[in-house]
This record gives sequence, structure tokens and C-alpha cells, in this order.
Amino acid sequence: MKRRGSKFFMPEGYCVKCKAKKEIIDAAEETMKNGRKAIKGKCPTCGTVMFKILGGKATPAAATAETTKAQPAKTTAT
Ligand SMILES: [Zn+2]
Repeated sequence: MKRRGSKFFMPEGYCVKCKAKKEIIDAAEETMKNGRKAIKGKCPTCGTVMFKILGGKATPAAATAETTKAQPAKTTAT
């Protein structure tokens, strides 16, 4: 693997205009209202704004809330 010396990694996203996977340029990390992180940038080919959600945990918001509620009970039991 070669390092290209870029200070920021190039995330990949799907460009709806090119209908292909593209590297996201001008990528900036953003935190959404629900606390999830996302990458916002542009397609290097057509410049269309691309948005990639970095769902670190593949759990829907509802499931996460449920887990959070269930956790205290479990912790007390332990
Ligand atoms: Zn594109």
C-alpha cells in the first residue's frame, strides 16, 4: 500500500450523477443532530455534493435508544 502523503484520507461515496463509486473530495467530517458522523464532500468528476454517513454502529436510532434504556438495568444486575 502506498501512501499518497495526503493529510486527510479519501473516503469513498456513491455519486448519483456518475452512478459510480467515487472518492469524495473536499471531504469534511460533520456530526449530525442525532450524534452520528458523516462525510460531506464533492464528486471529483462532476462536482455533485456527496454525503456519506459514517454509521460506526449499524444500529438504527430507535434500536440505539432501546439499548441505552436497557443498559442501566443490566449494569445494576452486574
Ligand atoms: Zn459524479
